Amino acid sequence: MINFTQHKQTFIIIFTAIILLELTDLIWKDHEMVSFLMHLGLLLITMILLLFLIQGSSSTSRELRNSNKNLNDIFETLDVAIWSHDLKADHLLITPGIEKLYGYSLDEFYRDSLLWRKVIFPEDECVLNERKEKLSTGEPCTSIYRIIKPDGQVRWIQDRGIPTLDEKGEMTSFTSVLFDITDRKESEDQYRSLVEMSPDIIAVISNSKFEYINEAGSKLIGASSPSEVLNKDVSEFSDSKTVSNIKEKVSNSFVGERFEVKVFRLDGQEIEVEISIMPILYGGRTAIQLVGRDITERKKAEKTIHHMAYYDSLTDIPNRNMFKKYLNETLDTSSDQPFAILFLDLDRFKVINDTKGHSTGDIILKKVAIRLKQVVQEEGVVFRQGGDEFILILPNMNRKSVKLMANKILHYFTTPFIINDQEFFVTPSIGISMYPEDGREEESLIKHADKAMYLAKDAGKNNYQFYFAHLDKASSKKMELETGLRKALELEQFTLFYQPKIHLETKEILGVEALIRWEHPTRGTISPIEFIPLAEETGLIIPMGKWVLKQACEQSKAWEKQGVGIIPVAVNISVRQIKDEGFVDVIKEILAETDLEPSRLELEITESIMQDFEHSTKVLTQLKELGIVLSMDDFGTGYSSLNNLRFLPIDNIKIDKSFIDDIITDTNHVSIVKAIIDMSQNMNFNTIAEGIETEEQVHFLKQNSCEIGQGYHFSRPLPPKELEMFLRKQV
Ligand code: C2E
Ligand code: MG
Ligand code: MG
Repeated sequence: MINFTQHKQTFIIIFTAIILLELTDLIWKDHEMVSFLMHLGLLLITMILLLFLIQGSSSTSRELRNSNKNLNDIFETLDVAIWSHDLKADHLLITPGIEKLYGYSLDEFYRDSLLWRKVIFPEDECVLNERKEKLSTGEPCTSIYRIIKPDGQVRWIQDRGIPTLDEKGEMTSFTSVLFDITDRKESEDQYRSLVEMSPDIIAVISNSKFEYINEAGSKLIGASSPSEVLNKDVSEFSDSKTVSNIKEKVSNSFVGERFEVKVFRLDGQEIEVEISIMPILYGGRTAIQLVGRDITERKKAEKTIHHMAYYDSLTDIPNRNMFKKYLNETLDTSSDQPFAILFLDLDRFKVINDTKGHSTGDIILKKVAIRLKQVVQEEGVVFRQGGDEFILILPNMNRKSVKLMANKILHYFTTPFIINDQEFFVTPSIGISMYPEDGREEESLIKHADKAMYLAKDAGKNNYQFYFAHLDKASSKKMELETGLRKALELEQFTLFYQPKIHLETKEILGVEALIRWEHPTRGTISPIEFIPLAEETGLIIPMGKWVLKQACEQSKAWEKQGVGIIPVAVNISVRQIKDEGFVDVIKEILAETDLEPSRLELEITESIMQDFEHSTKVLTQLKELGIVLSMDDFGTGYSSLNNLRFLPIDNIKIDKSFIDDIITDTNHVSIVKAIIDMSQNMNFNTIAEGIETEEQVHFLKQNSCEIGQGYHFSRPLPPKELEMFLRKQV
């Protein structure tokens, strides 16, 4: 098939030639009519065909022009220019787009073919050397450099050069496609600097390996530069749990969600990082973009704040806030599983604080916390409520197991705490409330355990008590006792019993100790252990103490007058009385009223007077000046050392019954008692042993040079009449 479009020109020539021949033929030859008409017909057909062809040809060139124009328009809008140089023919073709790219006219480029080079940003000229080298090998090469436009504007150009070499390797032509990439480059640069200078970690992970990491990220990991981290597996920097967690988040499309992970630095240190992840395409492959922030310091601060809020600063065990939180959590989850709350208060802890100072008190509190944790172990949680109070929660425990635990605690506290070689016996009083029977919510459970603790205190300390429904009545009992106590003096319900003090060697009666009894109309005889603390608490001890003093002095004087004998009398004095301003005057007054020789009155004070050493020394000195005998009662329980007593005008030391109790069996107590006796003698104190109950104790004390004693072994405290009988028997 002949393609007419392709051979259009040939046809036009042929047809024109035919027309010319026919015309000459018609003009110059004399034809017959038929032949003339045939030639004329042929001429006309040829001319029609020629016209048709010429018309067709002009419409094709219009189409071509149009498409060329379209192409030019596209090039002009595209910020692209083509530079094509036929080196052999030295024919240069530049598309007009170059004017827009470079700001110079097309003419200027044609006039100066090196103009493109002259406008390159000086710092980027080095790019051209590399480019030249690469192009000379025949390989296409893409270079990026800046140019300076005539108006001074700097633009980024991407230049794709395509060389053509002949068989000898010489470049025959060269084409360059030029783009203005300033906008893309600037936004890319901005993005890059944002990423690189970001204080946050930005990394790209593909196939569990670091494909990219910024400076902040490499620093965080402890690397000297990002390259040290690239291509390393993420598992080198985190545990398997974290890695699988990240994978899970990616697969579950938790993108953008922040979560915390642990990261191991190259130096082995563990840090905490908050990250968010997002799947991205990186280098044409799917990858994970990770953005993170070091939150180690924040976490530490959070932990410190949490610790400060929920832990006790002294003992470092959970505090009362944590207790409430824990209790409510236990209440939420326990359904009807029983559990116990133990309120624990240290007995006579105040005495330690007062006599040994708060620093010793603090050490003991710390040791108590440790000891409680040792007893409870995994079976419960120990909290410090404040002061000398601790709380224990024992989950999933019935009454029987709680009893076992409470006994275990009491047993643990039978061992003394040792501080600077000194022993401190600290005992707890424990109140217990049980869930659910004693309360179903926080408030009632706490209140009831607290009440039970007071019951334990009232029951003589160093024991535990369960809350019971009538306990509320028990505290009203205490109020009843207080009201009764206020009236007891008026109603003359107090009496004094007397316990003799014996010379252990000669069995001679050296004096008596006056001990108060309350003859209660309904409850019978009440022990001073029960009501003296209440009297001290309420201040009733002042009038009561005055009554005792007067009564005792009168009795001693009466025995003298009655010829029973010269019986010095010892009276117990509370700290509260010593603190009372008129105390010395009261003594003077009583001595004057009863006409008792001051040396026949002995005052028994306790170590708690050390709380206010200065004032106590002043009062005791005044009493001493009156000629009164002074004794330190219950010695050994208040933790004051004999050394401290040197500065007080004391005559006698009464060794507490608790030491005497065990002198036969407890080697520890043996050495304590021996030391007290020895040191007392060195300091010219007489030692009096309290609570002697056996002949063995008498024997031991005598052997160790303790000369005076009192106790049931000789006589219980007796009413005056009975004591008189005892005295007579002895004589
Ligand atoms: P205290 O001054 O140490 O008195 C000794 C206590 O031990 C007395 O208890 C006495 O009955 C008891 N006792 C003596 N020998 C023995 C013994 O061999 N075995 C046993 N188991 N006990 C023995 P009581 O009379 O119950 O007095 C207790 C405490 O009450 C006294 O201890 C004293 O601190 C205080 N008290 C007693 N009367 C008064 C008083 O008039 N005023 C003040 N402020 N306190 C007093
Ligand atoms: Mg006494
Ligand atoms: Mg005593």
